[in-house]
Amino acid sequence: MGMWNRTAETLSRDELAALQLKGLQKSLRRVWCNDFYRERLSVKGISSPEDVKSLDDLSKLPFFTKDDFRDAYPLKMNCVDRRELMEFHQSSGSTGTPVVMAYTKNDLNQWAECMARCYAMAGLEKGDAFQIMPTFGLFNGGFGCYHGCRKAHLFCVPASSGNTERQIKLMRDFHVKGFCSVVSYVPRLIEKLDADPNGDFDIPSLKVGIFGSETFSDELRRRIEKRLHIECFDIYGMTETGGIGTTGQDCMAHNGIHVWEDQYITEIIDPVTGEVLPDGEYGEVVFTSLNREAMPIIRYRTRDISRILSREKCACGRTSLRIDRITGRTDDMLIVKGVNFYPRQVEEALMEIPGVKDEFQIVLEEHDGMTDVTVNVEAEEGVTGHMVAKHLREKLGFLPKGDVFPVGSLPRSEGKAKRVVRKNV
Ligand SMILES: [Zn+2]
Repeated sequence: MGMWNRTAETLSRDELAALQLKGLQKSLRRVWCNDFYRERLSVKGISSPEDVKSLDDLSKLPFFTKDDFRDAYPLKMNCVDRRELMEFHQSSGSTGTPVVMAYTKNDLNQWAECMARCYAMAGLEKGDAFQIMPTFGLFNGGFGCYHGCRKAHLFCVPASSGNTERQIKLMRDFHVKGFCSVVSYVPRLIEKLDADPNGDFDIPSLKVGIFGSETFSDELRRRIEKRLHIECFDIYGMTETGGIGTTGQDCMAHNGIHVWEDQYITEIIDPVTGEVLPDGEYGEVVFTSLNREAMPIIRYRTRDISRILSREKCACGRTSLRIDRITGRTDDMLIVKGVNFYPRQVEEALMEIPGVKDEFQIVLEEHDGMTDVTVNVEAEEGVTGHMVAKHLREKLGFLPKGDVFPVGSLPRSEGKAKRVVRKNV
C-alpha cells in the first residue's frame, strides 16, 4: 500500500517519543514569545519553556479552547513576524467571532505534507485526477486539498462546491479517480446520478471518496461505497490544528484514524476533570502541534469525542496511533450517578446483544434530585429488558432500566436521530 513518507510514517515508538519531546519544546519556545500564551502558561506556574523536560511534563501545561482563539481574534496568537505570514483561514464560530489560523511558508508545507500522506493512504498516486468539492475561500477545505494536490502531484480539478450537474460532468470528462467533499453532499450527487436522463448512472473512473468535517455513520458509508463503487475515507483536521488532513485519516484497513504523531501529540481527557484517560476510554481529543510556526497549538481541546484504539503497528505498516472515528462532541456527554458516558457507547453496547435492532432511545428522568435512566430499544422476541440492563451495566458501569419494544414502534426522526430524551431534567 502506498505511503507518501515511509520514514515518517513508520517511525518506532521510541523515535516518535524523541521527536515529540523535541517538537514540544520547540513549540513552547515559539509561543513563549507571544504575550497571550506566556501569560496563560505563567498562571500555571511555567516560568520558562525549559520547565518541560519530558513528555510527562505535558500534563503541567494549561489547556486552550476555541474561546481562546476567539478572544485572540484576529492574530493575537500569532507567534511570528507578520511578514512571514502567507495565508490564513477561518471558521465561523457559533458566537459569531471567527477562529483564525495563519500560516507561514513552512506551515503551508506542513499542511501539504499531511494532505499528501492522506491522499497516498487512500491509494491516490501521481497524475490521478482529484476533484476538490469543498469551497475555496476562508473555509480551509478547498485550499487544503489544493496544497496537498500540488505536493502529491495529483491532477487537480478545483470544482469547489455546488452545481451538481457540473460536478458529475467534470468527474466524467477528466476521469476523476478521487474526490473530497462533505459527506452530506454525496446523497445529492447520487440523487442526480439516479435521475440521469440518458440512463448513465455511474462514474466509472471514480474509486475514492474522502470526507471531512462531519461525522457519519457506518451505514451511510456502506451505502455510498455500494452505490458509487468507491472506497470511503474519513479525513480529520480542523481550522485550529491547521486545517483538513492535519490530524490524520483512516487507512485501507479502516480500523481507526491514524494521527500524524510526528506532527501532533494526542491526548484523550475527561472533559469534566481534565484528567488524561487511559487508552480505550472515551473522552475529549486534545492536540499539541510539534512543527507549526505561526500559531502552534498547546493542549488544544477539540470538543471531539474519541478514544485511542491502538498504539500498535497497523496492518498497513504505519506505526502512528489510531483513534476511533469521531462520532460525537463533548456537548453530547451525559453524566449519570457520577459516570460519564456518550450515546455512542450505549449504541455500541446494545449492538452486542443478539436480536437488538438499530433504533433506541436514552430517557433521562429526574426524581427527587436523582436521575433515572431508561434505555428503550427495539428488539426481536426473546430479548428482555433485564438482558439489556445487565449488559449495559457491564459495559457502562451503572444500572439503567431496559425496556424492549417491537420493531417499528419507537419514534423515528427526520435526519439526525434523536437519541436522548430528557424529562424534568
Ligand atoms: Zn493503518
